[in-house]
Amino acid sequence: MGAPSPPTSFRPVVGAGGTPAAHTVVTELDRRGFTGNVVWVGGDEGVAAYSKPALSKEFLQGKLARDRISLPPPPTDHIRLRRLDRALCTRLDPEADRVLVDGTWIDFDALFVCTGMRARVPRPFAGLPGVHALRTFADAAAIRARLTGRPRTVVVGAGLIGSETAASLRTLGLPVELIASGALPMEDIVGRQLGEFCLDQHTAHGVVTRASTMVTALTCPSPGGPVTVEFDDGTGTRADLVVLGLGAVTSCDWLRDAGLDTSDGLRCDATLRTGRASVFAAGDIANWPHPVFGRRLRVEHWSNASAQARHAVESWLADLEGRERPVFADIPYFWSDQYGLKYQMAGHARGHDEVSVATTGPGGRPFVTYFREGRLVAAAGVNATRAVMRTKALIQSPATSSAASPSPHGMRETT
Ligand SMILES: Cc1cc2nc3c(=O)[nH]c(=O)nc-3n(C[C@H](O)[C@H](O)[C@H](O)COP(=O)(O)OP(=O)(O)OC[C@H]3O[C@@H](n4cnc5c(N)ncnc54)[C@H](O)[C@@H]3O)c2cc1C
Repeated sequence: MGAPSPPTSFRPVVGAGGTPAAHTVVTELDRRGFTGNVVWVGGDEGVAAYSKPALSKEFLQGKLARDRISLPPPPTDHIRLRRLDRALCTRLDPEADRVLVDGTWIDFDALFVCTGMRARVPRPFAGLPGVHALRTFADAAAIRARLTGRPRTVVVGAGLIGSETAASLRTLGLPVELIASGALPMEDIVGRQLGEFCLDQHTAHGVVTRASTMVTALTCPSPGGPVTVEFDDGTGTRADLVVLGLGAVTSCDWLRDAGLDTSDGLRCDATLRTGRASVFAAGDIANWPHPVFGRRLRVEHWSNASAQARHAVESWLADLEGRERPVFADIPYFWSDQYGLKYQMAGHARGHDEVSVATTGPGGRPFVTYFREGRLVAAAGVNATRAVMRTKALIQSPATSSAASPSPHGMRETT
């Protein structure tokens, strides 16, 4: 019997989006020996693929230049690749399996939707001089360009990007105020215990944090002049630079008329296939039922985007080759680097009913384990890579219960 013939298709396969999910789709198609045409619609950024996590860390701190955060171009050993840079998908015609790219329809055998998210910028704050969101390379470059004047900086929003930005700018010695709408930075992501630790770190490093505070107005009377920041308690401050870390919205607009469910990202089945057999989704935009957590998730983390991209390709190849499509069951994971410390979390803590807190390392860094109905669902820690990674494996195992808490030193203290 000869070797199996490589997977191929008649019409092109289209990857929609830039970095990293679409980049991984293209890379994976080639790695899997796919021999057909691939069209990569790379989005409007007009730059080669790069590491987004580095933007708020090494790039902002000036430790890594643009060329050091680039991803290698996808291999083309098997695929015939047509890259469309500075190009956007503007419409999907699901009945005809074709996508409109800058006025031209492209027919496809498969479409991988990886159009991710864009920064949420409230309309009154958009386009104000001295006010920047941080989502793209252009955003990060614009912020970095302003740092030479050692600006007084206000960071609005204390989620992952806001907290990291505050830490990076403070590491450069800039005066930084961090505005948190909740009581603690990063609390929504890593929970109360790590949120308290994160606040202490900001304070110890000289960041002034205003908790439970909303920004009601930003005004910049003269371009190049200071920005006036008004708060909901009637007070205010002035800044030379304002960075908005107010979250992001999914880039689903172009799918509006396609008859697909885009109520929270693009809904897919457990194999990452959407309501249309030839359309798959991966990355921040994908909303899928997670078999371990028994609920739909949409995960906004770097490693999830590439893992889903590889999986979506596998799902499509399985269809092509008459195999059963596999379910995507990876455990969500993310990290964040601040002041030389690495925050990490694995799993999904929403709906937990028990928390176990241990402390590790100098100064008592919290390591928090979350359970739901006796089952381990998540863990988060600081400089605790091995314990967090062990948690990932334990969560995946159906036999895991509270008895198997992966605390770093075996200590358990239930709150
Ligand atoms: C500053 C920053 C720091 C981060 N740090 C971390 C971290 O430390 N750890 C972590 O786990 N995660 C981190 N993340 C999150 C991580 O980067 C995202 O989860 C990841 O980038 C998602 O990848 P994606 O490909 O799904 O979407 P995106 O990265 O949003 O990419 C989507 C791409 O699609 C393009 N696009 C949009 N619309 C269209 C269209 N209509 N047609 C074609 N293309 C389109 C866009 O231009 C973009 O290039 C960070 C994100 C940012 C912004």
